Order: sequence, then C-alpha cells, then structure tokens
Amino acid sequence: MTLIRLIREAQPEVDLKKTYDAIVVGSGAAGGMAAHVLTSHGMKVLLLEAGKKLDIDAELKSTEWPYQHKRRGEMPPDSHALSFNEYTIRKPPYAADTKAKHVYSYVQGWGGSDYSKNIVVDERDHPYTGTNYAWVRARLLGGKTNIWGRLALRLSDLDFKAKSHDDYGEDWPISYKDIAPYYDKVDLYLGISGVKENLPHLPDSIFQRPIKLTYAELKLRQSLKKMNRVLTPYRAGVTTDGLKHNKYRSRCFGRGACNRRAGGCDIHAAFDSPTGLILPAMDTGNLTLRTNSIAREITVDKTTGKASGVSFIDAETGQTYEAKGKVVVVAASTLESARLMLLSKSSIHPNGIGNSSGHIGHNFCEHIMGPHITGLVKDLVGKPRTLDDGKPGSFYLARFRNLTDRQPSFIRGYGFEGGSGTSIYPGNASGTPGFGSSYKKNVRDYAGAFISMGAFGEVLARYENQVDIDPTVKDKWGVPVLRFNYKFGDNEKKMAEDMANTAQEIFTEAGIEIIGVSRMILTEGWSIHELGTARMGTDKKTSVLNQFQQSHDVKNLFVVDGSSHVSASCQNPTWTIMALAWRSCDYLADQFEKGSL
Ligand SMILES: Cc1cc2nc3c(=O)[nH]c(=O)nc-3n(C[C@H](O)[C@H](O)[C@H](O)COP(=O)(O)OP(=O)(O)OC[C@H]3O[C@@H](n4cnc5c(N)ncnc54)[C@H](O)[C@@H]3O)c2cc1C
Ligand code: SF4
Repeated sequence: MTLIRLIREAQPEVDLKKTYDAIVVGSGAAGGMAAHVLTSHGMKVLLLEAGKKLDIDAELKSTEWPYQHKRRGEMPPDSHALSFNEYTIRKPPYAADTKAKHVYSYVQGWGGSDYSKNIVVDERDHPYTGTNYAWVRARLLGGKTNIWGRLALRLSDLDFKAKSHDDYGEDWPISYKDIAPYYDKVDLYLGISGVKENLPHLPDSIFQRPIKLTYAELKLRQSLKKMNRVLTPYRAGVTTDGLKHNKYRSRCFGRGACNRRAGGCDIHAAFDSPTGLILPAMDTGNLTLRTNSIAREITVDKTTGKASGVSFIDAETGQTYEAKGKVVVVAASTLESARLMLLSKSSIHPNGIGNSSGHIGHNFCEHIMGPHITGLVKDLVGKPRTLDDGKPGSFYLARFRNLTDRQPSFIRGYGFEGGSGTSIYPGNASGTPGFGSSYKKNVRDYAGAFISMGAFGEVLARYENQVDIDPTVKDKWGVPVLRFNYKFGDNEKKMAEDMANTAQEIFTEAGIEIIGVSRMILTEGWSIHELGTARMGTDKKTSVLNQFQQSHDVKNLFVVDGSSHVSASCQNPTWTIMALAWRSCDYLADQFEKGSL
C-alpha cells in the first residue's frame, strides 16, 4: 500500500468545531516529533502542515537508472535552479526577472533534480527579500526530512556552555546531561549508524551497524590519528539493522540511491518524519492531520492573553479557517516559525506573539560552508572498481579547533564532511583529456582514487543578524514574507581561511596528492541549517523561550524547532532538534495533565 493511502486511511476527519488538546504547526523533524510524543501521552493533536501529501515513493523512484529517465533525471527545461553566482550577484526575491516558469533553490541543480522538483518550493510562489540568502525550503508532509543529508550528530557541553568556554554569546539554559537521555530515545526510536569514538566534544550515540570506510578514508583516518584528530564513519540517521517497532521503515540495503539524487530513500531506511514519526503517531488514534493548511496567525484569547488556536489558509482554495487548541506547538522550521510569530500581532502581543523581548527573528545563526579540498590517492590508480555508491554517507572529521587550544584569529570550530571511492558517474570524466579507448581507460583507472572533503563551521549568534516581516511583499497566498538582514562576520571569514589551510595540511600529511583547494565562501544559507530566531534562555528580556521551549510570555505556546537554539555549534542540528522537542513535549504533556497550561 502506498504511503499516501496509509495516511489517508489512518486519519480521523478534521473537526474545526472541536478544541484539540494541542495544535502542532509543521510536520518536519520538529513537528513530527511533537506529534509523536504528544499523541503517545494520549493527547488529541491536530497537525497543520502547509504543504501537500506527496506520494513520495513514486516521486523518488530510487531504483530507476539514469537511462530509464527521458532527461537522465534532469528537471524539465522550463525550470531553473539558482546558481551560486545568481545568489551573490542578484538580490532576493530571486524569481523576479527570471524567465523560467519554475525557479528553485540551488539544491535542484544537483543530479537527479526531476526526483525532487515537487519537494523543494518554487521561488515564484515563496519569495523573500533583503540580503542575499540561499533559503532552501520543502513544503510537504515531512518538510526537509524527505531529502535531508542525514548526518546525525550530538552537541556537547562545549556547545551548550560555549560562553563559559570563550566568553562569547550566551550559554544554553540546559547542559548535556539534561538532553542526553533524549538523544538516547531518538537513537533507539529512529535508528542511527556509527562508531563509538569517546570524544567529549562529539558524544557517541547508541549506534547500529556502521558504514564501512573506504581504503582512502582509512588511510586518512590513520594519518589524522597521529595529529590527534578523529575521522569517523558518517553518523547517519539511518537504520542499518532495522527497527522492530516501526513497520513503515526498512533497514538500509545500500542500494546506492543516496549518492545519486538530491536525497530521499523510498524504503525509508533513512529517517523521514512521515514514516518515522507521523504514521506511528496516527496509529495511536490520537492524531488528526490537515495538509495544505498554511498557518497564518496564532490566535489569542483576549481575556487571558493565551494562545487559543491557529488561523490557517487552505493552500488549494485560498479559504481561511480557524482551529482551536488548548496548547499551540510551533514547529514550522526556524525561519517560518519566526515569521508566524511575528505575524501573530494582537493588542495583547503588539510585536508578535511571545515577543515582549523583541528578540524574535534575532540571533539568527547557522553554518558557514565553502572551503573544500580534493585529492588523489595514488596507490588506488588502476585498481579494480569497488562498490562505494551503496551507502548513506562516507565520513565525518570531528572538530579539533578551540578544544583545549585557543586559535588567535577565531573562536568556536568546524568539522569536515567527506567522501571517496567509485560512484555511478565518474566525476573525473569531464576533466580528463583525450578520446576513445585510452580516454575510457584513463577515466576508469582514476575514477575510484579521489577523496574530497568540505567544512561546516559555526556562525556566531549575533543580535544584528536578523529577519523581520517585509512591509510590502507577499507570497502567493497574500501572506507577508520574510526580509533578511543577515551577513557572515569576521570570525566566520577567518575560520574559513583556516579551513582551507588546514585541509591542505591534512592531505599533505596523509600523502594524498592535492588536486584542488577551494577557499570560496558559499552564500549565507547554503548549509540549510538555520537556527536561533527565538532562542531559549533564563532572562525574559533577552530570550523568547525557557529551557522547555515554552514561551516566557504565553505559557501554552511552545516553539520546538531550531529557532530555539542559543548557538549553532558546528555539528548538524537535526538530531538535537528532535531530542529537544521530545524533552519539551514530555514536559508539556506533564504540565497539561496537571492543568498548569
Ligand atoms: C538537502 C538537505 C540536506 C540536509 N542535511 C542535513 C544533515 O545532514 N544533517 C542535519 O542535521 N540536517 C540536515 N538538513 C537540515 C534538516 O533537514 C533540518 O534541520 C530539519 O528538517 C529541520 O526540521 P524542522 O521540522 O525544523 O523543519 P522542516 O523539516 O523544514 O519542516 C517544517 C515544516 O513546516 C511546514 N510549514 C512551514 N510554514 C508553515 C506554516 N505557516 N503553516 C504550516 N506548516 C508550515 C513546512 O511545510 C515543513 O513541512 C538538511 C536539509 C536539506 C534540505
Ligand atoms: S543507501 Fe540506504 S539509506 Fe540510502 S537510499 Fe539506499 S537504502 Fe536508503
């Protein structure tokens, strides 16, 4: 049975006359987790998702070969994916002045774009304004988890207590010990593959079978060990051993589709919110889902000032409805959640709901990307081809800067993601000179001998890095859009220089011939790891939420996505988003039971 049919058959009818125990806005990593946890506590939940229910398995066609597709997987010629140059030279809204019928973010420029054109948003319908920013959005059931890269890392006290370490920014109102049991729950419920390394700054998960490193990666790992640095197999949010408690997901069979497409796994070995969280939540009988429902405003009870529900627009008909809830849980993703709260103005909350501090939209942070390196492992040239496509990731090189050392030019740190080995298409083919059989032999001989890696670094949270509501521009549904006022600073630029220099040192030390080093910084937003627009804290004047992601101002309002993060760390955020959401929703359910909300 297709996923869509499963969802249709499982769900109760939406009843807008009823007051739900909780309304959750957004169905990605955060909203899916909220739906799972709250329904498992017996609460009656209405999940509002702006996007459609897509028949994702039919969309992804994970086992289709390039030659079975009429354009070898490419999207139609009337569609255009924004390039790096367009993001830097032009100003948003990026679809303006473009002839193409459909305009997509850079992610659609990757191979196999036809398989994700219905997953990422069309910039024509979803404009934004302000400073340059590559904003990747997925408006459909499950949000970005349908195509995420699945690198699933924990944060440590080096992140949660970063201010205590280097005196910059704010500490989080929690420590690692508060969230560790919830990381464990996420690991066990969703599955994660990896190897224990006992690093205090990159805590281990409860891992399933790891992904094997290639010869080149092992060589690099051994060399790095001598430098006291750790390269570990990709910590993938993928079940490699299977999950007995989840009938909607298979274990990873390593069919290689991960490396061929923008993302997505049609057997759902890779975590996605619909099969990992939403379908199991529906099985409790406590979840009602309404897709095509764009939350426009969080409504307020004029006597208490508390949230009373959510008014939303039907994305297909344009009609506005109102749903009533005793609690509202916002999980529309970092930037959309800020937009929704800023749009929710009333006489009691004139700056937007939960915004007495004026901090919503501020302290916006993420990861800086760009510097990367490619090298050649000479002893692999001419060796028989190996099957390296069939895995959900390759390797991660953990942070090593500003742990015990103090870098003179920047604070915080970065890690590298990388890969090597043979793949379905030999990346060296276009750069190899010649023709005929000697050309083909050359391409084959070298195809599996390359190794590359690129860095992800922490962008500091700064009050002045901010989004607000554009006073004039609206989206297709007449909803005012976000305006960006966001730039990388000096710390990020200095860090990026170190990334490129250090990558060279690392490859040289390992005896890997350097083929190319890029020092270019990619446009803001490229990492797709937006964080911090409604941060947690203990001081109501400088933060929006408490340690349980509960609004300081409105006690029945929770914001459980990355907007709550106090700093970005350099580790990818999704596992932390879900662990925090689980912790907060346990608290919410307990308070609800006690009648304290
Ligand atoms: C290509 C790619 C690779 C990535 N790789 C990694 C990785 O390797 N590791 C990692 O940790 N993270 C990765 N990420 C990021 C990861 O996907 C996000 O951190 C995660 O999905 C965030 O979850 P979320 O629930 O906050 O947002 P989303 O998953 O974006 O879900 C938000 C949902 O809310 C809905 N919504 C928005 N506005 C409204 C509204 N007004 N009303 C109702 N619904 C609304 C959206 O349609 C969407 O379904 C990647 C992302 C992409 C796109
Ligand atoms: S390699 Fe594994 S996780 Fe990736 S698409 Fe294939 S089965 Fe899914």
